[in-house]
Amino acid sequence: MIPLPLALSDSFGRRIEYLRISLTDRCNLRCVYCMPEEGVPYENLDNVLSFEEIERVVRALASVGLKKVRLTGGEPLVRKNVPELAARLVAIPGIREVTLTTNGILLARDAQALWEAGVRRLNLSMDTLQPERFIKLARRAEFERAWDGLETALAVGFSPIKLNCVLMRGINDDEIEAFGQLTKDRPLSVRFLEYMPIGQVSSAQWRAHYVKNEDAVAQLKALWPDLETLDDAPESTSRNFKIPGARGTIGVINPISHKFCEGCNRLRLTANGKLVPCLADNYEYDLMGPLRASCSAQEIREHAAAALAHKPIQSDFEGRLARGGSLRTMSQIGG
Ligand code: SAM
Ligand code: SF4
Repeated sequence: MIPLPLALSDSFGRRIEYLRISLTDRCNLRCVYCMPEEGVPYENLDNVLSFEEIERVVRALASVGLKKVRLTGGEPLVRKNVPELAARLVAIPGIREVTLTTNGILLARDAQALWEAGVRRLNLSMDTLQPERFIKLARRAEFERAWDGLETALAVGFSPIKLNCVLMRGINDDEIEAFGQLTKDRPLSVRFLEYMPIGQVSSAQWRAHYVKNEDAVAQLKALWPDLETLDDAPESTSRNFKIPGARGTIGVINPISHKFCEGCNRLRLTANGKLVPCLADNYEYDLMGPLRASCSAQEIREHAAAALAHKPIQSDFEGRLARGGSLRTMSQIGG
């Protein structure tokens, strides 16, 4: 008999405490860096994990050290009753935090219910503050609804709200100052994310729009010479700064230029039940089959351990690009 692992870890001894769960591969936007304009074929709904199956996975892994769950997608809020799922996950012993990443379009509807479910932190994706540009970037005229979602979430009390902006050269890299200004009077943690080559993107297309986050930091320091550098937690994936006197902060997340793999504690679960140990690697491990065959909690833990044996020591987005690129879009993996 395989001994019960006390803590979920990978072959390099990294403890796995954080599961990012994609609730759906569907989305109400078509962001240029994530999905093609025509969308991607959606998974048949029969092949999408049910809330019960998600709860079984989280419960099984919480007994071996899983502490944090992020609900994502696709757009997680296009799925019905997400606050109900969040409440069920919050109640699982060992789970300290359930968070959500959303594009904000349906957040005004769900913010209060998510708060009541016990969700306290949100990541909201917002790549431009210009409604016209939003149409080009997200291919839908939804800026106002996303902004309304953000304002509602602030009013409900979520704090800090992390506002994620994927910087792309020639598309939105002239908005660094405007995003910085936002942090002056709102408790927002604006974070500039490096554009990652995921989905149907060629090396040339990716390189044409990739902005190294050092460039963003240099611009921020030129704009605000007295920019304060904050002390980040050792496991933090972002480097954070503050404009003196501002209510919020500005951060950069550098998955490409500064890999943060050494302290990586994450595992992903796609909407169709595949475990993905690394975003930069096409390897995935099927958990749906065992779940549908009524596997035990111990078997779920063993499948997770088997998937984690394939977690690479370091991400290699460029190596994957050279080998033909990623098989899935970000919306299909779960960001
Ligand atoms: N629909 C939700 C949203 O947009 O917040 C959740 C899913 S989305 C895939 C999660 C995050 O991945 C978003 O913050 C999005 O900006 C980011 N993302 C998607 N494709 C990306 C890419 N190619 N490079 C960097 N970040 C990306
Ligand atoms: Fe949808 Fe999020 Fe991808 Fe944009 S980034 S297309 S909102 S899943």
